[in-house]
Amino acid sequence: MLYWANPYQQYISKKNKINKKISSVLNKNKYILGNEVLFLEKEFSKFIGSKHTVAVANGTDAIEIVLKSLEIGYGDEVLTVSHTALATVAAIESSGAKPVLVDVDSEYYTIDLNKIKSFFNKKIKAIIAVHIYGQSADIKELQIFCKKKGIHLIEDCSQAHGSSFRKKKLGTFGIASCFSCYPTKNLGAIGDAGLIVTSNKSIAKKCHSIRQYGLYNGRSLIAGRNSRLDEIQAAILRVKLRELKKDNHLRVKVSKYYNTQLRNLPIKLPKVRKNSTHVFHLYVVQVKKRNALLNFMKKNDVILGVHYLIPIHLQPAYKNRLIISDMSITEQISKNSVSLPIYPEIKKHELDKVIKLLKIFYDKK
Ligand SMILES: *Cc1c(COP(=O)(O)O)cnc(C)c1O
Repeated sequence: MLYWANPYQQYISKKNKINKKISSVLNKNKYILGNEVLFLEKEFSKFIGSKHTVAVANGTDAIEIVLKSLEIGYGDEVLTVSHTALATVAAIESSGAKPVLVDVDSEYYTIDLNKIKSFFNKKIKAIIAVHIYGQSADIKELQIFCKKKGIHLIEDCSQAHGSSFRKKKLGTFGIASCFSCYPTKNLGAIGDAGLIVTSNKSIAKKCHSIRQYGLYNGRSLIAGRNSRLDEIQAAILRVKLRELKKDNHLRVKVSKYYNTQLRNLPIKLPKVRKNSTHVFHLYVVQVKKRNALLNFMKKNDVILGVHYLIPIHLQPAYKNRLIISDMSITEQISKNSVSLPIYPEIKKHELDKVIKLLKIFYDKK
């Protein structure tokens, strides 16, 4: 079976280093908030080019904790997209704020600035820009807009570890940025993990304390919770962080191979935004006859992904609870997109199999 993502292959490719690290943590008698978390925070800040990192339990928590640190909650609204992982909106909901969802553009599938402008209201305290599939939202324009309105810009970098805009890493444009390290992500743990990045010292301090019951120097100064990252996951992430640049490069190589091999098929290939890099967390194409294609590929042992099958504004739990704009592009993407297999360890013959099957399906052999 060939899957659209394969975290097991990533483990296998770094097995000796990871096993050695896990074993060393097991023998240290410090399993929570020890040196592995401390060093991971330092090394990730350096990698992104920001001052502080706060390691937390998962990517959803990262967003919720950032919102809390900015004192955004009941009575406030937070604007983002419907075309994202449920996590982005779930985090806004658990902060107490009301999610306001707008559509994406039809070229890069990131938040549509024109929609924001026509939908803006005074209750909106922050915009969460999602760098979907691995490339930048229109982040400079968003930064300018937020500054003008006096609201916070938060980046959801969960699919874009190491990606950049005008040579500056994503995660350095907003007041704070959130990364999920779910196993399939470009920087993935072998379990749950999340990272908050900020260059604002007081926000970093608040996030560190919210992560652990609001504790600061033995006293609880802010209502907090438990969202600690454990030492084993931090140790694994440190091993993988050292190879992230190389692994992202391998993903880009796969994307280029798909681009050239699939160019004559009746499918819409991904576009890379000008002045930005794309780290291809996902290689998403728009296709015709999607369900037939999914079934055909599955019969031939290739499992394609769908990101996302149901846009958030149509999810049963969220329907009628969100403020939404027109969602025609988001709904179109949800009906036509498939994610082809892409990960650093994928083999050429596996890519050739996917390509050959697509050619057969579209009768272009
Ligand atoms: C994966 C992801 C998250 C967070 O996911 P967790 O499962 O909580 O780590 C948030 N936003 C986006 C866009 C994601 O892809």
